[in-house]
Amino acid sequence: MLQIPFFLNIRILIKQLYDSAHVTKKIAVKSTTFRNDQHFKKSRQSETCGGEETMTDCIFCKIVNGEIPAHKIYESEHVLAFLDIEPLSRGHCLIIPKQHAEKLHHVTDESALREILVVAKKIAHALKVENYNILQNNGRPAHQFVPHVHFHLIPKINDEGLGLIWKANKVSQDELAQVATEIKENLS
Ligand code: AMP
Ligand code: ZN
Repeated sequence: MLQIPFFLNIRILIKQLYDSAHVTKKIAVKSTTFRNDQHFKKSRQSETCGGEETMTDCIFCKIVNGEIPAHKIYESEHVLAFLDIEPLSRGHCLIIPKQHAEKLHHVTDESALREILVVAKKIAHALKVENYNILQNNGRPAHQFVPHVHFHLIPKINDEGLGLIWKANKVSQDELAQVATEIKENLS
């Protein structure tokens, strides 16, 4: 059997401890918002406020309504942008439609969606960043933790910013053509 030298075992052990500490921190960070989400799910009472649908227990609706503080950087009738409370890099912010909707395809206020990309462009200019990601997660398996549609603008500054694992699949031209046809047939 292969013998691993003692000093290597120690190095592996230290690295495992370091990694698990990091994972624990990440889970702890996310569980803060997870609790909000659980609470949100229990009471899905919606109410109408100023013509816009809001969710009484949605953390981002509370920011929109000024019930909890945020570092707001842009506000219009339909859109709000504010700094992410746990940024991946300096200037990491969130741009949201004021109308409550959990996922992108639930949003009925399409003018807000159009405005959001323009706002993202303006913020990128204001931050004077050349490299950045726009990220928009839908659903827990797709890493959405706050159930109110939001677009992340994440500056890429050296090693800081969004890290990606991109597992590309090899598919045939026939498969691609089939998917394209299916989407085109169902587009409304
Ligand atoms: P997501 O995983 O796409 O749902 O990301 C939600 C983001 O919202 C995370 O990056 C959190 O740091 C951020 N967030 C959660 N609560 C607040 C808050 N009260 N103010 C600002 N950002 C927040
Ligand atoms: Zn909301």
